[in-house]
Amino acid sequence: MIDFTLTESQESLQKKAREFAINDIIPVSRKYDESGEFPYELYEKAFKEGLLNLTIPQKYGGLGLGILDSCLVVEETAAADPGITTSLFCNSLGQEPIILGGSHEQKEKFLRPFTEELQFASFATSEPNTGSDVAGIATTANIEGDEIVLNGRKMWITNGGVASIVSLFCRLENTKRHQGITAVVVPTENTPGLTIGKPIPKMGHKASNTVMLRLEDVRIPVENILGEPGKAFPLAMQTFAHTRPTIGSFACGMARGAMEYAIAYAKRRKAFETKIANFQAIQFMIADMKMHYEAARLLTWKAAWEADNNKDNTVSASIAKAFATDYGMKTASDAVQIFGGYGYTTNYLVEKLFRDAKLYQIYEGTSQVQRMVIARFMLSKYLPVFEKIYS
Ligand SMILES: Cc1cc2nc3c(=O)[nH]c(=O)nc-3n(C[C@H](O)[C@H](O)[C@H](O)COP(=O)(O)OP(=O)(O)OC[C@H]3O[C@@H](n4cnc5c(N)ncnc54)[C@H](O)[C@@H]3O)c2cc1C
Repeated sequence: MIDFTLTESQESLQKKAREFAINDIIPVSRKYDESGEFPYELYEKAFKEGLLNLTIPQKYGGLGLGILDSCLVVEETAAADPGITTSLFCNSLGQEPIILGGSHEQKEKFLRPFTEELQFASFATSEPNTGSDVAGIATTANIEGDEIVLNGRKMWITNGGVASIVSLFCRLENTKRHQGITAVVVPTENTPGLTIGKPIPKMGHKASNTVMLRLEDVRIPVENILGEPGKAFPLAMQTFAHTRPTIGSFACGMARGAMEYAIAYAKRRKAFETKIANFQAIQFMIADMKMHYEAARLLTWKAAWEADNNKDNTVSASIAKAFATDYGMKTASDAVQIFGGYGYTTNYLVEKLFRDAKLYQIYEGTSQVQRMVIARFMLSKYLPVFEKIYS
């Protein structure tokens, strides 16, 4: 049975996020894009409204919402501002390895504080010399008695400059590739040896904080290790499978915003003595935007539904993320095109959406990495429907 009807609580969550996007994010979007400041007050308000930390289980004081619920929220906020949404959602990314791989005590210790006051969590796999290749992590972890000692650098860490904890992936010394990957919760305050870099200047998502973390003999209690030391590669992959549908929804929201700006502009801008909306070339770009938005949303909802129903959604999450972000980029580009020269100026938000759209194809696994996941499945596990005919 297929049913796309949202529940009453999903509809009200979506409405709340939409109102927050319209009333609170849009008025300050350009300001934060220009200043690059971190919008604390906005996140404070989002926290109070119940738009942060959506997936923390109720058992630990959270809202206990699902991935699809998260998709509904971020589509609305990303339609208003993708950069603000990146930092808004980052808590869920940082918390997911704890939700998936943490013990009851770890969940109580690390998740509950997020339900009591505004705090930020980060997620760290990437390093200066490895991003796509998660098995290539070089940050070392050496277990010495009841402590784990960390050395290395983590690159591009969203909210790393404001986070209270980082779900950090490292490797046990003298191990190679997938073996040895270990996940540990690193507190950022009073942690000798942890240096937080300055915000990295970026093309877009400027309101989002992105830093490098340097770890020099950082000593963390072994109780902070998530799961078994050396066995956390699958945990990183499961985390991505749960968060990638949401990135698809980021792209849907951004694309919907760009499409709506483009439609409004096409209906008022004149060329050759008529509205440009009357030109078939413009109409077809708008039709493509709508087609891609609808298809991307279906894919992200399916991948999210699978995650919420405990199915292995690895491949569908990659399909959703790659499709939504690639076509999101195209939609943002076409929106600038419809605005003509004005689209290339900072006077119109399509220029900002165009810059912001690019990151979606890069973080949480590039579009190429998503295709690797899909192709690997197709060539090893996919069962042809007409198997007997082709074999
Ligand atoms: C603003 C921002 C925020 C980020 N936030 C976080 C965060 O919070 N936490 C975190 O851990 N990381 C974060 N990242 C890092 C992000 O996930 C990586 O940048 C991304 O995974 C790509 O890794 P890379 O930059 O090392 O590129 P590389 O892995 O060096 O890839 C470079 C190019 O080669 C391609 N490529 C690589 N391998 C293959 C292959 N086998 N086949 C085909 N093509 C390939 C890639 O698709 C890409 O086009 C963030 C990045 C940015 C820019």
